[in-house]
Amino acid sequence: MSEFKMFDHMQQYQYEQVIYFYDKPTGLKGITVIHNTVLGPALGGTRIWNYKSEEEALVDCLRLARGMTYKSAAAGLNLGGGKTVLIGDASKVKSEAYFRALGRFVQSLNGRYITAEDVNTSTKDMGYIAMETDHVVGLEGKSGNPSPVTALGIFNGIKAGLMFKFGDADIAQHTFAVQGAGQTGYYLIGYLLEAGAKKVYFTEINPKHIDRMKKEHPEVVFVKPDEIFSQDVDVFCPCALGGALNDSSIPQLKAPVICGSANNVLLDEVVHGNMIKDRGIVYCPDFVTNAGGIINVSHEMKGYKRENAIADTTRIYDRLLEILTLAKEKDITSQEAAKLYAEQRIQTMRDIRSNYIPR
Ligand code: NAD
Repeated sequence: MSEFKMFDHMQQYQYEQVIYFYDKPTGLKGITVIHNTVLGPALGGTRIWNYKSEEEALVDCLRLARGMTYKSAAAGLNLGGGKTVLIGDASKVKSEAYFRALGRFVQSLNGRYITAEDVNTSTKDMGYIAMETDHVVGLEGKSGNPSPVTALGIFNGIKAGLMFKFGDADIAQHTFAVQGAGQTGYYLIGYLLEAGAKKVYFTEINPKHIDRMKKEHPEVVFVKPDEIFSQDVDVFCPCALGGALNDSSIPQLKAPVICGSANNVLLDEVVHGNMIKDRGIVYCPDFVTNAGGIINVSHEMKGYKRENAIADTTRIYDRLLEILTLAKEKDITSQEAAKLYAEQRIQTMRDIRSNYIPR
């Protein structure tokens, strides 16, 4: 394997800072990456994972931190991108002391980085971190479960996709296929039904989630997991796992619009982004549509008010229309356009701060 050249990588992708930390008493071992703070402090969750190697942990942290820069910038937030990964088995390492030790490292960054929940961390864990630092969000009794807000963002993304493709954003005129009825898919189906969706199909692999849907919404039609892509519907909503849009699924799609919650849903951004574009399908970029969760949690920083978080989340509609239009004008994939949109916002804000204004 070729040697990983850290500074070359930082230079190429413009990372600001990479921090390794270790706490002997608790065995806390982790990495925080701050990718970009032009717009504001770097916000990104803390993930615990049993990485096979330190390099694997580093690469994951670098990738996730950069993704957060794009997500927050495209969401119109005054936040930069960062992430923390902790190396270990989540079922063994967690304790009050472990998270308080992490909180102390977060505090040492003096607000340049704000942490939150991610894979294998909870609101309870954030509570321990908050005992040592103010730079943590996602606390109990504050912004609450992000999934309904994420789903609301997807719902608004779908409306933008429909408007762009059909010139109308009326959910009642259209049909939908939802892959995954977990946290986000479940709430999304609720919003679609509330808006009078003509027909909704869904698939799931978790029997509990299938039963819940059948019990609460018997009008929603269950299809087998491998049949969801080929449903003859207007919108395909991937709300399960990453990589769902790939060589095998894209040719099966009949839906002219794709909009869902799943992160990294394009197995290969370039290859599969172009495959979708060549088929004339409108793809609503994942990191733009699924930003409701981060928009919601970011409101904790200014005294959480649900109605403000909701209002900000509905703006995903306008932002997505702008991005889809940019993609059309430049004849690029919508994923590329979304990145360009985020980069342009960062650059513009960097430029307007070129003069000194005392506050
Ligand atoms: P979840 O685990 O609650 O739901 C996913 C569901 O998909 C599960 O019920 C699972 O059984 C089902 N599933 C998995 N593979 C499947 C398959 N092949 N066919 C059918 N069903 C399948 O997760 P979630 O919170 O709803 O998140 C879904 C996606 O959205 C993830 O990629 C997540 O990273 C992303 N996301 C979630 C949020 C949020 O607020 N929850 C925010 C941003 C992004």
